Amino acid sequence: MTATKLMPIPGHIDPVPVPRPDLVEGITPREDGRVDLIGLPKKRIAELFETAGLDAKAAKLRAKQVFHWLYHRGVTDFEAMTDIAKTMRPWLAERFVIGRPEIVEAQHSSDGTRKWLLRTADGHDFEMVFIPDADRGTLCVSSQVGCTLNCRFCHTGTMRLVRNLTAGEIVGQVMLARDSLGEWPKSGQADLAALDDDLVDEDGGYSADGRLLTNIVMMGMGEPLYNFDNVRDALKLVMDGDGLALSKRRITLSTSGVVPKMERCAEEIGVNLAVSLHAVTKDVRDEIVPINKKYGIEELLQACADYKGASNARRITFEYVMLKDKNDSDEDARELVRLIKHYKLPAKVNLIPFNPWPGAPYECSTPERVKAFSNIVFEAGISAPVRTPRGRDIDAACGQLKTAAEKKSRAELERLYAEKEKALG
Ligand code: SF4
Repeated sequence: MTATKLMPIPGHIDPVPVPRPDLVEGITPREDGRVDLIGLPKKRIAELFETAGLDAKAAKLRAKQVFHWLYHRGVTDFEAMTDIAKTMRPWLAERFVIGRPEIVEAQHSSDGTRKWLLRTADGHDFEMVFIPDADRGTLCVSSQVGCTLNCRFCHTGTMRLVRNLTAGEIVGQVMLARDSLGEWPKSGQADLAALDDDLVDEDGGYSADGRLLTNIVMMGMGEPLYNFDNVRDALKLVMDGDGLALSKRRITLSTSGVVPKMERCAEEIGVNLAVSLHAVTKDVRDEIVPINKKYGIEELLQACADYKGASNARRITFEYVMLKDKNDSDEDARELVRLIKHYKLPAKVNLIPFNPWPGAPYECSTPERVKAFSNIVFEAGISAPVRTPRGRDIDAACGQLKTAAEKKSRAELERLYAEKEKALG
């Protein structure tokens, strides 16, 4: 792959399109020349079938059938597509594949959290985490291999951006999770899944057809709004009633604050929004979430206030990692309340005890401090639950599995930070 230089823009590292000479129109590349259908919408599949020799009418019909088998039933073999003629199935298999990211490592925590280290077809590793709770099961999905940003509390921030994940590699994570959890609809259940919206209760209970995987958060490795098109295309397949059929109310996209893309996110994707806020003053947020140097707190909160679809029933989540003596004072809590009220935001605050990793520059706030902070926000009428740390025995925090295999020394980390900081201008 060609090395790509970061283009320095004052105050920020902007996304860099990583050249993919082998990547054609969003198709996940394969060495054997066959085309991976995962990640493609029905229309594109029909076009490929037509290019491969079917007439337009047959291509459209086959695409409809194949789409259903791929995304709704989760089959990984053309032979299993029973309503497609037996003679047609080898024709498909010669030209196309049904891909999944490769599983390099799978870990299962004593608290039920599962974590997978996955690999793209061209050999890049990334992560996916499944977090079961009493009333829901949430899959944390990655959008990039590495990240251009360097949020100082985040382990992924210590990695360079390798490349954006394709739509196929993003939706492929959800499909892989359904494979692992055995959650594809069986015959006769298919129609139930398509009616997911009606089958789930408003506060996020398990779906009535008994699935464990009920929610998705785009909160894994990478900044999803810096890979907008692929994330949008993947989530459309996830939300498609004839695809994975998950309601948009059950999908949350988390951004560090890429303000110019937030309006498009509401209009073109329409999922719930979460914002990695983590600080309420310019100085501290500039340090912890350096994209703040480009898009400041006020601009970000105004974009949240303008986010179409946010309401008291679909509140914006503000993620706030609790860092000892950095962002955890009573004054910080009061300022957080003031900002949320000032912008009239339908908000909830997720307080996250910091999960330190080797070489991390911060410590976690004390439990007493977290409680005091939470109380101030809660007493102002804003929900501020403290997220229970999950999967600590398997290093389930973002970026930890990938870097366990490539441990960096403190000096290496400082060098990498300095490199990224330099590009911030
Ligand atoms: S928190 Fe998200 S945006 Fe920030 S460095 Fe980590 S992966 Fe990137």
